[in-house]
Amino acid sequence: MNQVDYLRISILDRCNFRCQYCMPEGEKLKYILGEELLTTTEIVTLLKQIFIPLGFSKFRLTGGEPLLHPGVVNLVREIASLPETEDLSLSTNGFLLADLARDLYDAGLRRINISLDSLNPQTFDKIIGNRGRSLWQQTWQGIEAAYEVGFDPLKLNVVVIPGINDREILDLAALSIDRNWHVRFIEFMPIGNMNLFQDRAWISSEELRQQIKGKWGLVESKIKGNGPADVFKIPSAKGTIGFISQMSECFCDRCNRLRLSADGWLRPCLLNQDNQIDLKTPLRQGLNREQLQEKVKGLLAIKPEINFKQRESGTSGSSYHRTMSQIGG
Ligand code: SAM
Ligand code: SF4
Repeated sequence: MNQVDYLRISILDRCNFRCQYCMPEGEKLKYILGEELLTTTEIVTLLKQIFIPLGFSKFRLTGGEPLLHPGVVNLVREIASLPETEDLSLSTNGFLLADLARDLYDAGLRRINISLDSLNPQTFDKIIGNRGRSLWQQTWQGIEAAYEVGFDPLKLNVVVIPGINDREILDLAALSIDRNWHVRFIEFMPIGNMNLFQDRAWISSEELRQQIKGKWGLVESKIKGNGPADVFKIPSAKGTIGFISQMSECFCDRCNRLRLSADGWLRPCLLNQDNQIDLKTPLRQGLNREQLQEKVKGLLAIKPEINFKQRESGTSGSSYHRTMSQIGG
């Protein structure tokens, strides 16, 4: 069993997009507001008092859309400057990145994952639920700004939805040829929008891999922060192509992560909310460092069992009470 040393930290659950696969259709989401949110100081305190002493050294800031958080650059600076931080990364939809890429880099961020589900502005707007002026161009500018500033690795995440963006697989894969961009295809999961999932289902990584291999050939590769992705490259390409196959493959035995929600709940597994624990209340009530650590140790002790239990019941189609934007994808 892997050492659990990676914490994904959702810093807010709000988002400026409403991606079809992430948010439920038509339903109004209830957002975590004001005092319910962990402050950036509380997040850093939790890292220093609990997670780092328990061996955590890899952190990812996510959301919702983390770049909507006014304190994101300062938080990056604080976490990047902790001597125990081995790896810090951030997931974003890229829309606000053109303005923030330089500040984030200067604050110490080096790794970034940007969602990009389509190269076609109309398809892109359809996926992100935008009916006004196209938001594709500004998102693309965000990706280019991150590249120019020097983020490395720069990963582009694509959730593949049958009949919506699956015709663009080769165009998206081709983004890895001329630049060291790392394109990662993620299998669509039954979380967030169950109606869409039931209508469209999902395409396996293997099918995508064969498509790309048929066009250019693929060789195995590696990249920093591989995580659960299987990584390949088109021969002589500068970047790589990764496949995240959480639907068709079980990588629970490789899972090294916990997830902290924006309101301070710690989850042992993406699919599990029964065993999550509240860290915000005891922190605010003044529980000492040892007492807080004991709570997390308890969760770590049951994590291996939960991983597989959730896997068996989780991906078979039961409904999840929170979306990826709420849990922190
Ligand atoms: N807003 C940021 C973004 O879009 O990258 C960060 C948060 S988002 C919840 C993190 C990741 O979760 C994105 O790569 C997104 O594509 C993925 N995601 C959301 N819903 C998903 C689903 N139903 N299946 C697979 N991936 C999903
Ligand atoms: Fe927002 Fe990211 Fe979810 Fe899209 S995937 S709705 S950008 S949180």
